[in-house]
Amino acid sequence: MNENKSTENSINLEPVIGLEVHCQLACLSKIFCSCPTKFGASPNTQVCPRCLGLPGVLPVFNKKVLELAIIAALALNCKIHRQSRFHRKNYFYPDLPKAYQISQYDEPLATEGHIEIDGKKIGITRLHLEEDAGKLMHDKRSSLVDFNRCGTSLIEIVSEPDIKSPEEAYAYLTEIKAILQYTGVSDCNMEEGSLRCDVNVSVRKEGEGFGEKVEIKNLNSFRGVEKALHYEIKRQTDLIGKGEKIIQSTRLFDEKKQETFSMRTKEEAKDYRYFPEPDLLPLVVEKEEVERIRAQIPELPSQKRKRFIRDYGLPEYDAEVLTATKELADFFETCLKDYGKPKIVSNWIMTEFLALLAESKKKIADSLVKPQLLTKMLKLIDDGLISGKIGKEVFADIFNTGKDPEEIVKEKGLLQIKDTGSLLSVIDEVLSENPQAICDYRQGKKKAAGSLIGQIMKKTQGKANPALVNQLLLDRIEKYTF
Ligand SMILES: [Zn+2]
Repeated sequence: MNENKSTENSINLEPVIGLEVHCQLACLSKIFCSCPTKFGASPNTQVCPRCLGLPGVLPVFNKKVLELAIIAALALNCKIHRQSRFHRKNYFYPDLPKAYQISQYDEPLATEGHIEIDGKKIGITRLHLEEDAGKLMHDKRSSLVDFNRCGTSLIEIVSEPDIKSPEEAYAYLTEIKAILQYTGVSDCNMEEGSLRCDVNVSVRKEGEGFGEKVEIKNLNSFRGVEKALHYEIKRQTDLIGKGEKIIQSTRLFDEKKQETFSMRTKEEAKDYRYFPEPDLLPLVVEKEEVERIRAQIPELPSQKRKRFIRDYGLPEYDAEVLTATKELADFFETCLKDYGKPKIVSNWIMTEFLALLAESKKKIADSLVKPQLLTKMLKLIDDGLISGKIGKEVFADIFNTGKDPEEIVKEKGLLQIKDTGSLLSVIDEVLSENPQAICDYRQGKKKAAGSLIGQIMKKTQGKANPALVNQLLLDRIEKYTF
């Protein structure tokens, strides 16, 4: 159903969506001090006077942060500015001991980028550096604060309002995440807060100016973004349909109720009293430095997709699934090194392997399936030693135990029966039990053979070679005497 047409007045409004992605950089230490950034440490054990903002300390910029941010900016096709600057963004909140955040304001590191989603360009307004705040934990009686995350390096990636639907927002985020992971800029682990997203959304009559926008903050899953957008677009459209006004505000999304609720009216830039950070020099990036970094950028997801289609003859869908993460793409390509049938490998990965991973909630790295175990099993199928159906059983076993497929086949007695003598005795047994099917077949009802083959496969636990069964049965069924 089209959400936009759900109002009584049936006005046709177009959503305008922009996304802000906050991404924690894969740095071992923080942006302005040498505290570690390891996730899961005991609260307030990874802090120092600098990241706690105690009086008399000075920030020292971590150069690794800049390198990763430049990689991200280049991979997102941004223009890198020779000079950028840090500003103080002043606001009070209990998770921010300095009462200001060091961020970049009107002189960001990079601007004017874009990515492509299904052939459509989505603009990236800017990419800038900033530090993270701490984390508050609330229970019924009290609130606790953990400053470990204070001063962790972030990049913020702000899109142009080019996104036109919740689904497109989802696709944009998926692509951004893949790019950041491929380039090693971030682990993008959403459960650990390495990737977070704020959404700006308004609705307007097609071709008219922008409406009042609403910001939805702290969304921590891509599906959450999609759902929050569906809800918010309908809410705004309904309000306008009733002749009411949209109030510019910041809202939160309630995952349980699947709706947004108002948090506060939105601040404007002037509320933050930005001014240049007096304790840090402007950041200067020379062209040679940018070119040196550009040369190190690995193949990006979109390039890999195109190459998989071109070099391996894969359908677009397969290429998209297989390149979703670098680990999966690498797994696929390692398989091809000793098994040269890309589509067959792709089918097994996309159906069996991904299903088992999803079911067990495992990542590829934690799974016991190694590329050479999969390819060894595929060779057993090709050599006619096991059937494709038995292959699925063997593969599930590899997944659970990490055992060699040959060993599994031997241990479980799964070798395909190719011995004519033993197959014939099973066939005769089935025929003697089904005289009616024989009559039907002889009278021209060829379908009757199908049910007989089914029974033969069942009696051999799927181990019979299907082609051989077929050939023997058709021969036998004519000659069989009661
Ligand atoms: Zn520190």
